Amino acid sequence: MLYRLGRSFFSDHPRLLSGPIGALAGWVPRSIRHGREYRRIRELLAESQWWPRERHERYQLAKLQETVGYAYAQSPYYRELFDRDGVSPADLRTFDDLRRFPTLCKEDLRENLDRIVPPSFDRKRLMNFVTGGTTGSGVVLPFEEGYRNRERGFFWQLWETVGYRPDMLAAVLRHRECPPDLNGGIWYRDRSSNAIILSPERLGPDTIHQYVEVLSRYRPRVLIAYPSLAHLLVRYSRDVGWKEKIFDLVLLGSETLYEFQRRELETELECPVRIHYGHVESCALFGYCDQSNDYHVQAEYGCVEFLKEDGTPAQPGEAGEIVATNFENRALPLIRYRTGDLAVPSERLCTCGRQYSLVSKIQGREGDFIRTPSQRSYSPTVLEFVMDAALLEGHDGFADLQIVQTRLDEVVVRVVPGRQFTEEGLRRLCQLLDEQLGFECRVRSELVEQIERTPMRKKRLVLSQLPD
Ligand SMILES: [Zn+2]
Repeated sequence: MLYRLGRSFFSDHPRLLSGPIGALAGWVPRSIRHGREYRRIRELLAESQWWPRERHERYQLAKLQETVGYAYAQSPYYRELFDRDGVSPADLRTFDDLRRFPTLCKEDLRENLDRIVPPSFDRKRLMNFVTGGTTGSGVVLPFEEGYRNRERGFFWQLWETVGYRPDMLAAVLRHRECPPDLNGGIWYRDRSSNAIILSPERLGPDTIHQYVEVLSRYRPRVLIAYPSLAHLLVRYSRDVGWKEKIFDLVLLGSETLYEFQRRELETELECPVRIHYGHVESCALFGYCDQSNDYHVQAEYGCVEFLKEDGTPAQPGEAGEIVATNFENRALPLIRYRTGDLAVPSERLCTCGRQYSLVSKIQGREGDFIRTPSQRSYSPTVLEFVMDAALLEGHDGFADLQIVQTRLDEVVVRVVPGRQFTEEGLRRLCQLLDEQLGFECRVRSELVEQIERTPMRKKRLVLSQLPD
């Protein structure tokens, strides 16, 4: 999620960030820097996080009715769909009524995007974000102006809930790369966001001493990372015998956090580890608090259902697909959007006093690492950027794809050719992947008719056939 948010003029210019201009930008208070939408969300959440459950439900139902009514009135896709199914916004009087409305899967979104976006929006004036996620087949989604700052409002609220403050130096180990001529391409200081940016790509057994050195020198109090990268950092630093208590807090996102990873991170780093769940389509956000490892379903963000394969709701303790309706993106109303991710809802209440419903586990986004002969590991999330880059370069001809590691030195890109498929696009995709993997593996491609999916129609972006 942050990857998308982080894409701005500044993050494309690391040299500006590490100098006086970055420092100056850091002085502007967030409420001014991030504007009206940011302030609106912060004001709402300051109060609403303490609402009783019934108040949240009233808010959600009103927002649902508003969204469904808006979609029917403004979006040619929904109007046709609802008419076909014989439902209308007036039918939505309780939460149970929502089940009468059709769901929307990723393929529906992909194929009907132009008709889902209300014609009143000029696509050229909207902000575009590329999905990657577990499907690996990206699509460019439009968002309204103000969306980015709305997201920031939600995230800063979460971060502050667990004690992060803007004056605390953070280490960031996510997607942002460092220019090769700044500190050997390992790190740079982003003064505008008071962070040390660590290169995810250069992290390896041969460079770990440089990471450890910069952490020991600056002693950032917060680590913001992908779970797999935080885990690698801990593994590698342990291998070289480095053990220092540096962080007060670890904030993770964008990937599944496996329990063994959480345990290892908490033990080695000696601090709480928190993870949120979100996705680029922005229909559901599961946050956290300082008193529990359970996810808090952020009720102001969207309406979430957990559905079993037969379409009925999962009971507490049972896994169900996260199906969600967004509240805030008028350029792209998504009603009952099937994320393909599985989660286990819980009936407990958190001891922090917030009455959000809880999720005990996210089971989705399973993915393997790609390993290379020099013992480097690449997480599927890092590999998503390959797809994003190809898509942004206009190579949009992959209806579906999957990366399969067949041998330690061989990776196969399986592609289901789409309408705009070109050999050149496929060559470029393989080239980008080859580059990302440090030219260590033979990357070959295979055209296939379909990619195998799980019963929940999920698929692994990366499938490793190597023994453990
Ligand atoms: Zn809580």
